[in-house]
Amino acid sequence: MWVISKRRFDVTRLRFLLRNAISTKLIRTAMEIDETGKTRIETLLDSYGKNMKISPAQRIKLYPVIKVLDIVRRSFGRDVETFKIELKDPTIRKIILNSFKSLLTYGLTAPQNFYMPLLVVWNYTNKCNLRCKHCYQDAGSSGEKRDELSTEEKKRVVDELDRNNVVSISFSGGEPLIAKDFFEISEYAKKKGIYINIATNGTLLTEENVKRIKEIGFGYVAASLDASTPEKHDEFRGVPGMWNKTCDGIRRLVDAGVTTCIQFTLTKDSFDELPKMLELRKKLGAYKVIVYNYIPCGRAGFENDPTPEQREEAARIMYEEINAGHHVIASTMPQLGRYCKERNSDSVVIAHYADIKTKELSTISDIVGGCGVGRAYCAIQPDGLVTPCVYMPHLVAGDLRKQSFKEIWLESPLMVSFRDRSKLQENCRSCEYNAVCGGCRARAYEYTGDLMGPDPGCIKNKDVYYTLIEELKKTEKEERRAVVGVK
Ligand code: SF4
Ligand code: SF4
Repeated sequence: MWVISKRRFDVTRLRFLLRNAISTKLIRTAMEIDETGKTRIETLLDSYGKNMKISPAQRIKLYPVIKVLDIVRRSFGRDVETFKIELKDPTIRKIILNSFKSLLTYGLTAPQNFYMPLLVVWNYTNKCNLRCKHCYQDAGSSGEKRDELSTEEKKRVVDELDRNNVVSISFSGGEPLIAKDFFEISEYAKKKGIYINIATNGTLLTEENVKRIKEIGFGYVAASLDASTPEKHDEFRGVPGMWNKTCDGIRRLVDAGVTTCIQFTLTKDSFDELPKMLELRKKLGAYKVIVYNYIPCGRAGFENDPTPEQREEAARIMYEEINAGHHVIASTMPQLGRYCKERNSDSVVIAHYADIKTKELSTISDIVGGCGVGRAYCAIQPDGLVTPCVYMPHLVAGDLRKQSFKEIWLESPLMVSFRDRSKLQENCRSCEYNAVCGGCRARAYEYTGDLMGPDPGCIKNKDVYYTLIEELKKTEKEERRAVVGVK
């Protein structure tokens, strides 16, 4: 997320902040409610954001808070003036408030449990103009399975995410650009200071839509390409001509100066495409290739899931790029964090998204910690149901039509169950890379029927993979899920 948003920082001082007892005390003071009904840190951030003068008496009261912010400032290597300007950015304000609250609520944990998610993926609609083979949402032209949220309900959801300092929303689908109120709602979220991006199939990136995307100020747009040539992609997407359409859309975004990524789902079939996708990125002028972790759910079958050996090879290819200093790859594969640490590399992958060429960032990668499900991230479905991950569309933690987001995130037993990695099954539980990876809980669930099961996609669990895959081969697709206990 950090590299995608083009922010860089140094964490030596941040480590000091997080591990130091005095700093913890200062954070506690910063979160105390003052006479205005706000926390002290909010009052201070407001004073920066709205250029309000602080009286000498207030300054004395806010002194501990100013000190703690100063440690944060130095962690980010900023001079005072630059930092003051950045503090006016409502997204930065959300990160600070969310982080402080997280430290107070959970203390420093590895990986960190967050008071509110850093990222919510909002499956905005079930409607889609394509019929992709691997769609986790099982979306298509027939549209809604259940009543989708109305525009007013969506605004209430945004209000709540904003109030709770959720940092970012990734709009996905179905195809978000198909929804009539998409720009209205995304602009509403952006104006509240939430970092927003779009995951799209790329076929609706018309001149007009690209213009709106640029005006609203999306952090980035990720468009799907499943192969470096039209034939494979179009066959996969179920509609001819789509590869060219998506490439045209990517070019339009790049020309308009929008940060544009190619999202590529690595499957058994498309495995050889990975290096070619990096070449295509160059040709199209896109910023990064985001390599998606294929999960056998929705319309995606087990037969196309890469083997643990293929995943390991994919991690090697990605690592080589990252370690060479080419910041052209991001991935949702949590094992990439493990791979980079195992190679004792100079580069570290954070949250299986970002990479930076410094060992100092191992602190951050331990904090953000691989699979973010129910801990740093969750998903909202088109009808307002909240699920721990987009790849768990049938595991419902709560309903935004009946409950608050805060209640669901903080109290749902399903969400809470992901916040203690000592509960994982072997080999993930005692794995020394547990804190930076944790295994993909969605894949573990699809294969083993246990959310805490081992992730069979990892080379360290390959025995589990080959045992389960043999059992699965004996049955037809629908029965397969029953074999492993998946509802
Ligand atoms: S064993 Fe589990 S925690 Fe360890 S690297 Fe593999 S998937 Fe990640
Ligand atoms: S379960 Fe975790 S690793 Fe798997 S897709 Fe969801 S967030 Fe990513």
